Amino acid sequence: AAKDEGRNRFHYFTASMQRYAKHRMRLIQDLRHAIVNNEFELFYQPIVSLQQESKLKAEALIRWRHPKRGLVSPIEFITVAEETGLIIEIGNWVFQQAARQSALWRDRFGVEVQISINKSPVQFRDEGESFESWAALLKTLNLSNNNICIEITEGLLLDGNSAISSKLAQYRQSGIQVSLDDFGTGYSSLAYLKKFEIDYLKIDQSFTRNLDSNSDDFTLCEAIIVMAHKLGMKVIAEGVETDYQRKVLSDAGCDYGQGYLFSRPVPVEEFEQAFLYTTNKVIEKTTA
Ligand code: C2E
Ligand code: MG
Ligand code: MG
Ligand code: MG
Repeated sequence: AAKDEGRNRFHYFTASMQRYAKHRMRLIQDLRHAIVNNEFELFYQPIVSLQQESKLKAEALIRWRHPKRGLVSPIEFITVAEETGLIIEIGNWVFQQAARQSALWRDRFGVEVQISINKSPVQFRDEGESFESWAALLKTLNLSNNNICIEITEGLLLDGNSAISSKLAQYRQSGIQVSLDDFGTGYSSLAYLKKFEIDYLKIDQSFTRNLDSNSDDFTLCEAIIVMAHKLGMKVIAEGVETDYQRKVLSDAGCDYGQGYLFSRPVPVEEFEQAFLYTTNKVIEKTTA
């Protein structure tokens, strides 16, 4: 009986592995199609100043308008895009789209909105990727380089690859800013914070989430803010959902907040309606 069970289990695993392999192959095919057919779209989520300063920022978050499946979340396809290298093309598209959007908002609304884009480690490791082509587009658009910010994660900095650090330095020297995303969830080696020049630390939402109830998380947030400021960085808290969290963070000196309290990530037109027709709306909402 034990033998039969074992065999059944084996069959069960192969069947599910086959299903997975099939699903994955389908996804890869669809992704290739999506690139050619322009099925991606950027949603924008405001990054709101918690202190006096009023300059508006936004994070661009990719969505996939799948012809059959509807709106697909990046969680479902970024990893496969990275594994297959398709992220290179997708990432270039994201950058171009975000840069054009910032230039468009400047021209249409007279507002400079710094747009953050998530840049995959795979893009950094790609030898063919050239900083020059990015710089050239910004120049063509006559866009100030600090209107673009790149979000990276801790893993990239621990890669130990010197080509990566020189690339990062190149971006930063050009005026493009750098954010460290999901801070506190990675390897938690703090040594790289002095080695790399970073403009913003983004406190991961797992710390912000429990600010209401858990005082340890508050202590951690406070300590991160103090440390970041001493090292010359600004702090963005992710996942701000309640007014209480906003207040606690703002009192602790946190520079910016991002989260559902201010807005979910929304399509361009919605972002314009909510934040650009009356630029002051964000500020009114946060000081109410
Ligand atoms: P991330 O860069 O850490 O982005 C923040 C995520 O938190 C977004 O999920 C956002 O919708 C969500 N979020 C924002 N505010 C709140 C809140 O108050 N509460 C909660 N529960 N969640 C909130 P999203 O859009 O599903 O993106 C997931 C991840 O996918 C991103 O995490 C990022 O790592 C990746 N991603 C998104 N767009 C791109 C892209 O263009 N390129 C690459 N390489 N990765 C991307
Ligand atoms: Mg991000
Ligand atoms: Mg994040
Ligand atoms: Mg995240």
